[in-house]
Amino acid sequence: MEQNNCIFCKIIKGEIPSSTLYEDEDFKIIMDIAPASRGHAVMLSKKHFENLMELDEETASKALLVAKKVAKVMMEELKCDGLNILQNNGEAAGQTVFHYHIHLIPRYHKDQVNINWPAGKYENGEAAGIAAQIAARF
Ligand code: 5GP
Ligand code: ZN
Repeated sequence: MEQNNCIFCKIIKGEIPSSTLYEDEDFKIIMDIAPASRGHAVMLSKKHFENLMELDEETASKALLVAKKVAKVMMEELKCDGLNILQNNGEAAGQTVFHYHIHLIPRYHKDQVNINWPAGKYENGEAAGIAAQIAARF
């Protein structure tokens, strides 16, 4: 299932060292090499999927349960004030490693992490039109 030249597949196989804080049959959670904050971790699927949309049903159904369980312990142990769950899909969305992963980013009052966007605005009826377009697919 692993993909050649995928850095996260190499980490999962143990070919590249990492600091692991959680592991089960489906996921490995490691310290991010370039942390946004103290304790920033990334949760890797053990199977190679490029992004969220490619996940198989079993992995998708387990992912948030594991993220929730580990995030709770991280909050307690790191004594952080909050925690962002962040998951990037596609280069335009900031994805740099094309192997499915979830960021667990502990947040501290007055930290330097910046997850922000300027508030946008819709024209009249625009939001309803977009919603209807997508809703028509279900
Ligand atoms: P993305 O930008 O794809 O959502 O996130 C990829 C994350 O993987 C980045 O936060 C980056 O610092 C982290 N990362 C990239 N290469 C390595 C590595 O070799 N080891 C670890 N532990 N993290 C890595
Ligand atoms: Zn991979």
